Amino acid sequence: METITLHDKTFRPFIPYDRIESAIDAVARKINLDYEGCEDIPVLLCTLNGAIMFTSELMKRLRFKCELSCIKLSSYQGTRSTGTVLTTLGPTCDVKGRRVIICEDIVDTGNTIVAMQEMLEDQGAEEVRICTMLLKPDVYDKDVKLDYVGMEIPNAFIVGFGLDYNELGRNLKDIYVLDK
Ligand code: 5GP
Repeated sequence: METITLHDKTFRPFIPYDRIESAIDAVARKINLDYEGCEDIPVLLCTLNGAIMFTSELMKRLRFKCELSCIKLSSYQGTRSTGTVLTTLGPTCDVKGRRVIICEDIVDTGNTIVAMQEMLEDQGAEEVRICTMLLKPDVYDKDVKLDYVGMEIPNAFIVGFGLDYNELGRNLKDIYVLDK
């Protein structure tokens, strides 16, 4: 794999697709164990646009009946979190009385998941669990429990596998990191 350029920045290879796949396999195994034989139909809530690839790969591996819903929030502009979380779409189903599994691409400061969890609880969700493909543990400073974490990464800006830099890079199969 070689370095790539998106807009004005260069990124170098960081996490190859086979490692991403193994992490998703492991997360799916845990979720399947927790939800095996459940009588309700949990909702997988995909956080657009970044978690779209992760959610689709994860969903294929789940062995219980579940529904898919989407939500769109934004706190990032360019390579930095603005700290203000705005909801721009969804959730696209009624979550009242439902068990919801939030599918996130990456948890950084945690502002997004905190805002989302509060909103879903306000809307009457019976339970909200968090599943994230990636976590930046050095930045995350919230008390919200992260139920399922694919991989931990250092505090760096990454793109690929759904994650973008100003909308570019989402289509990359592997994950790349900003080359300083
Ligand atoms: P938080 O609210 O936890 O600070 O940020 C969560 C959101 O910020 C993620 O869903 C993602 O959209 C964006 N984000 C955080 N870190 C990165 C990163 O390294 N790369 C990209 N492309 N987006 C990120």
